[in-house]
Amino acid sequence: MKRFFSSNFYVAAFMAAGLMLSSCAKDKNGERLIFSIEDDIALGNQVAAQTDSIYKSQLLEPTDPRPNVQAAYAQINKIVAKILASDQVNYAQEFGYKVKIINDDNTLNAFATPGGHIYVFTGLIKKLDNEDQLAGVLGHEIAHADRRHTSKALERQYGLSVLLSILLGENQNQLVEIGAGLATLKFGRDAETEADFYSVEYLGDTPYTCDGAAAFFEKMQDEQQAGKPPVFLSTHPSDEARITAITDKAKADKCVKPVQQTSISDYQTLKTNLTF
Ligand SMILES: [Zn+2]
Repeated sequence: MKRFFSSNFYVAAFMAAGLMLSSCAKDKNGERLIFSIEDDIALGNQVAAQTDSIYKSQLLEPTDPRPNVQAAYAQINKIVAKILASDQVNYAQEFGYKVKIINDDNTLNAFATPGGHIYVFTGLIKKLDNEDQLAGVLGHEIAHADRRHTSKALERQYGLSVLLSILLGENQNQLVEIGAGLATLKFGRDAETEADFYSVEYLGDTPYTCDGAAAFFEKMQDEQQAGKPPVFLSTHPSDEARITAITDKAKADKCVKPVQQTSISDYQTLKTNLTF
């Protein structure tokens, strides 16, 4: 008998059917997605391993024994912990949110995998002035993972069956492609607006001013006007309306605070620690 479909097809179809049956419940974001939280975590681990290998020569391993690298990670992880303390982050426990630093001063970018692996380039870190601004960017990226924008965007671009087959350890070529495209993955306007919104929400429970992301976007615009368009702006179209929406929400939430002196001086230390 002629075989029309590979066994992989049946396995993927079976998994999809099973997932559909088990996905009647809403997730913590109030959405019904076939792709489960466990799938986000599993795909995120695979994509992160792929991303690590793509940036192998520039990636600063969190286990790097150099004291300056250790200090930089400790400082960034402390900022992340303050953000994750917000009860607005729905998957803090499940995703465990890990930030990795890529040592590339020429790239102004940050991105997130599904399941909460966040990558940030030293080029972006060094353009900012204080911890509040970095907290704004990290909040935005955490929102992309927590609101599951990354897995939804990948599903749109590659299709559910491809993502499920990657989870089965197949389709490694597609995984390589996903890893390579992640740094420039576009989410769409709604997801961007939502990530900006939650960046303000998350920072509400921290010592940082809630509109840290607005100051960050202003910095990125300055770079663009100086003729050096940052990669981040290619996936994050930024205009005055976007910046105003962030500051307006922060004002409405009454969480606009003056940037503390320690936020500025500690940030200088971070930049020094990341100068090689
Ligand atoms: Zn974004």
